[in-house]
Amino acid sequence: QAKALGKAQYQVYNQQMHQRAVERLQLEIDLRNALKNNEFTLHYQPIICLKTGHIIGFESLVRWQHPQLGMISPGKFIPVAEETGLIIPLGIWVLQEACRQIKVWQQKYDSFISLTVNVNVAVQQFSYSRLIQEIDKILEETQLPSSCLKLEITESAIMENSDSAHAILQELRDRNIKICIDDFGTGYSSLSYLHQFPVDNLKIDRSFISRIKSVDEPNKVIDAIVNLAHYLDISVTAEGIETQEQLDYARNVNCEYAQGYFFFKPLNAEAVEAMQLLNQKKPLFLNV
Ligand code: C2E
Ligand code: MG
Ligand code: MG
Ligand code: MG
Repeated sequence: QAKALGKAQYQVYNQQMHQRAVERLQLEIDLRNALKNNEFTLHYQPIICLKTGHIIGFESLVRWQHPQLGMISPGKFIPVAEETGLIIPLGIWVLQEACRQIKVWQQKYDSFISLTVNVNVAVQQFSYSRLIQEIDKILEETQLPSSCLKLEITESAIMENSDSAHAILQELRDRNIKICIDDFGTGYSSLSYLHQFPVDNLKIDRSFISRIKSVDEPNKVIDAIVNLAHYLDISVTAEGIETQEQLDYARNVNCEYAQGYFFFKPLNAEAVEAMQLLNQKKPLFLNV
């Protein structure tokens, strides 16, 4: 009887596995068509300068509007895109679209002629030999000044491409394209590589920020990250600010930039314009 039960369980398990494999395969097929069917869009999350309280730029975040399944989050399809290599053409599309949109806003809003855009770059894209050529082409086509483009890479992108990382980062620095380390603290967290590579900004991962409950309660990890970064002349962005306390803490320890739902969720381009975000002359929070 135990044997029969075992077999039944195995079959259920097997069916679930089969179901999952089918779904995954379908996702892969749909993803291949999504690019040519124009199903991707970018959302833009404002990045705030904590000294002035003004928006200095946006992080572009890709969204997939699936014709049957609706909006699919990047957490779900970016890994599939990475495994299938589709991240390369998708990544190029994201870079193109982000640079194009930011250039439009620079031209439209006088006080934002140096508006910046952060673009996420996956590990595989970072090791793609034509990345620099593609970026040059896109900057040329869109006429976005290279100093307005910032690339967000993870610690893994550097660690897993340690042979080529140095040369790529140097090529980017030669062009004045800034490098941010995304989700800092969640990966290898090998602080020793930081001073070996030309890095401009550290984004402290949301999981650290979310632990801040009060301004008076010191958070040693955050303090250490900020001190180290500043010691190495690297600026710091606090990711995922959701409360006043978290904002106050980030300002107290002199983080340069912040992002999070406390200010804005990622918005589509129409919402950025409708909310007149780039017409505002007032700082977004008081006591700046
Ligand atoms: P990420 O680059 O670390 O982006 C931050 C994520 O945190 C975004 O999720 C954003 O919507 C979310 N977030 C921002 N502020 C808050 C907050 O205050 N609270 C909470 N709970 N969440 C906040 P999203 O858009 O779902 O993106 C998830 C991840 O997918 C990104 O993490 C990034 O790793 C990846 N991704 C998104 N767009 C792209 C892209 O164009 N290319 C690549 N390669 N990866 C992308
Ligand atoms: Mg990011
Ligand atoms: Mg991040
Ligand atoms: Mg993240």
